[in-house]
Amino acid sequence: MKILAIETSCDETACAILKDGEKILTNLVASQEELHRRYGGIVPELASRKHMEVILPLTQEALERANLGLEEIDAVCVTNGPGLIGSLVIGVSFAKALAYGRKIPLIACDHINAHILAVFLEKEKPPFPFVALVVSGGHTALFWVKDYLEFYLLGQTRDDAAGEAFDKVAKLLGLGYPGGRIISRLAEEGNPDLIPLPRPMLDKPGFDFSFSGLKTAVVNYVNDLKLKGLSVPIHDLCAAFEKAVVEVLKEKAVAALLATNCQHLVLAGGVAANKRLRETLKHEAQKRNFKLYLPSPEFCTDNAAMIAVCGYHKYLRGEFASLDLDVYARANFKKLSL
Ligand code: ATP
Ligand code: MG
Ligand code: FE
Repeated sequence: MKILAIETSCDETACAILKDGEKILTNLVASQEELHRRYGGIVPELASRKHMEVILPLTQEALERANLGLEEIDAVCVTNGPGLIGSLVIGVSFAKALAYGRKIPLIACDHINAHILAVFLEKEKPPFPFVALVVSGGHTALFWVKDYLEFYLLGQTRDDAAGEAFDKVAKLLGLGYPGGRIISRLAEEGNPDLIPLPRPMLDKPGFDFSFSGLKTAVVNYVNDLKLKGLSVPIHDLCAAFEKAVVEVLKEKAVAALLATNCQHLVLAGGVAANKRLRETLKHEAQKRNFKLYLPSPEFCTDNAAMIAVCGYHKYLRGEFASLDLDVYARANFKKLSL
């Protein structure tokens, strides 16, 4: 069974073909980083225009690389939210046309559900139920995951997402775009313990996060140095910021494991590619005796292979979408209160 997956929720146009739910035949990602760099962030109108330009040749290339014809594809799945409406509409319209033209099922996938399922592309798969920490550009949340398509929100950020905080701090320090990777590279050469930064929400119970205050603390620190005519120790500041974010994520994830009496933690989303976060959680897993499941970095950031995994499980359940499928900007997670 071969499923073709399309992802255009943000600024990556992606197409993947997956066989029998786990064998990747192709996984292509066309990033728009270059296009948005000079604006220091994503310009939605430019993003959708670029998706429009790239989606057809990218899909053709995916089929070519897998050495398949369109007639050999059994179903088409596509992200229909959450994300940028203009971007989502391109992918969804394209997928509808493919499904209609070929008379094969159309499947709608939730982008966050797919991020959680990225780990199933790895050899070692987590057993249900597990706790998932999703840290991306638009979301930072803890979920209790009961099954492939059934997950419940334990807590989430009240303001900025972790990835968004990385990107904003990088912009503020004039380091470029996108900020996550740049900060983590600079942080490797810094000392994380020289600049004191807050650990927001650790003093509060529950599983919510907040990162905008941490960003403000960085702003204040930089402004203070500038007023004094001192230069900013960029490496140390990046390291301190990264450590503060990672510690909060770690503490809340551990609390969620304890509260749900669960021994399996899955990491997901673009920030899950962060080395310090991965290493810190590995260390914590050893210390506290839980099992950690990490997707490879290429499956952490946006990709269509994870959408295909989600689509595959919907296919098995016969959950198909109709041709009037709509898109949505914001997630509406089911909550679990403990
Ligand atoms: P969402 O999934 O919430 O809709 P998104 O799809 O834009 O948002 P992802 O592609 O999952 O987000 O992740 C992108 C984010 O990950 C960006 O904010 C980026 O800075 C961050 N990121 C990527 N690599 C790293 C890294 N090594 N360290 C920290 N952050 C990183
Ligand atoms: Mg992106
Ligand atoms: Fe994403």
